[in-house]
Amino acid sequence: MNLLIVEDEIQLSGEIRRFLEKEGFVCDEAHTGRIASEKIFSNDYDLVLLDLGLPDYDGIDLLIESVQNNGRASVIILSARSSTEDKTKGLDLGADDYLSKPFSMLELKSRILAVTRRKHGLKENIFRIQGFVIDLDKRKLFFGENEIVLTKKEYDILSFLILNKNKVTTRLQISEHIWGDIFEENYNSNYIDVHIKNLRKKMSDYAETEFLETVRGIGFKLNAP
Ligand code: CA
Repeated sequence: MNLLIVEDEIQLSGEIRRFLEKEGFVCDEAHTGRIASEKIFSNDYDLVLLDLGLPDYDGIDLLIESVQNNGRASVIILSARSSTEDKTKGLDLGADDYLSKPFSMLELKSRILAVTRRKHGLKENIFRIQGFVIDLDKRKLFFGENEIVLTKKEYDILSFLILNKNKVTTRLQISEHIWGDIFEENYNSNYIDVHIKNLRKKMSDYAETEFLETVRGIGFKLNAP
C-alpha cells in the first residue's frame, strides 16, 4: 500500500519512512502543507499520516482536503496536540485514527494495519482462502504448513487483491498502489500480468487458484466467500 507522510519534522518523517519501507509500504513524504496539498490532489494514496502542526497550513484543513479529494485514503493524525478536543475534532472530520507524539514505530504499524483492516472489512491480519493462508502482518503466504515464497511485488499484488476482494481492480489501480506515483511515467500493464502469472503458478503447485480471476479488458478480482 502507498502512504503519504505529512510531517514538517524532517528527521521524524525520514525515520517513519525508513521504518515503513522496511515493512513493505511504499512511502512518499511532504514536509509542508502546500506540498502535501498538491500531492493529495494528484495522487491516489491508500493512507495519509498527517501531522496537524504544520508551519504553513492548518493540519485540519489538510484533513478536510484529504477526505474530500482522496476519498479512498484513510487518515491517521500524528500530533503533539493531544487534547481531547483536537482528537474529537479530527475524528469527527473524517480521520480514521489519532496517534499522539511521541509514539513507537511498532504502534504506528499496528494502527496502520488496524485502520486498513477496518476499511476493508477484515477482522484479523490472517486471511484464509481455499487452504491458502495469507499473513498480512508478516507479509507471508502459506498453504497449510508450507510457506510459498513470493517476491515483494507478487505479495503486494496478492494483498491488494485481498483487501479489495470481490471487487474488480484495474491494472492502473494495482500499479498506483504498488509503485506509488513513480510508476506512472513508465506504466506498462503487461508487467502486472507477468507477476500475476508467476503468482498463480506458485500457488497452483498446492491448489486450484480459480478464485484469482482475470476480468477481460479491465483487470483482476479475488473472489472470496
Ligand atoms: Ca509539526
